[in-house]
Amino acid sequence: MGEIDRMLAANSEWAQRFPGSKDVRPVRRVAVVACMDSRMPLFQMLGLEVGDAHVIRNAGGVITEDVIRSLTVSQHVLGTREILLVHHTECGLQATDDNSFADLVERATGRRPPWAVRAFRDADDDVRESMRLIQESPYLVSREVRGTVYDVASGKLHEVS
Ligand SMILES: [Zn+2]
Repeated sequence: MGEIDRMLAANSEWAQRFPGSKDVRPVRRVAVVACMDSRMPLFQMLGLEVGDAHVIRNAGGVITEDVIRSLTVSQHVLGTREILLVHHTECGLQATDDNSFADLVERATGRRPPWAVRAFRDADDDVRESMRLIQESPYLVSREVRGTVYDVASGKLHEVS
C-alpha cells in the first residue's frame, strides 16, 4: 500500500493548486484512445489541459467493444467530434501473441480468458486496423479519426496514413 499512500499524499498537495471545476464536456471536443503504457504522459505530450479532452486507455490502445462504448458516450452525450489514436513503440502487446498470452494466464490461474488480448506485431498496422474499426462502427456520429505512434525513446509522435 506504500505507493497508494504516496499518491494520496500527492493528491492533497495537488488539490491545493486545483484550478476549479470545469464543464463536463471537453472544451476541445476531442477524444484520445491510447495504450496504458506508463511512459506516455498524454496531457503533457499533446498539450492538453484539464477539461480539454477525453482519454480512453487500455492495453495496446486497441479498439474494443468497451472503447466503442466510451466513444459513443463521448460523442452523443458529451459532444466530442474528433478521435486521436495513440499507439507506441516497444508496446507490451508486441511481445506476445493471443495464444501465448492465454496459455500464460491459464498456467498461472487455471482459467483461460474468454477474450483475446489483441496482441499485434506492427504498431502502424494496428493503428490502421483501429482506424478501420472506428470507420466501421455504426454508433458514432463523427468518424473523424487520425492515428499516431509515439516513440518512447524520443517523445515524438508520427502520424500513420
Ligand atoms: Zn503499449
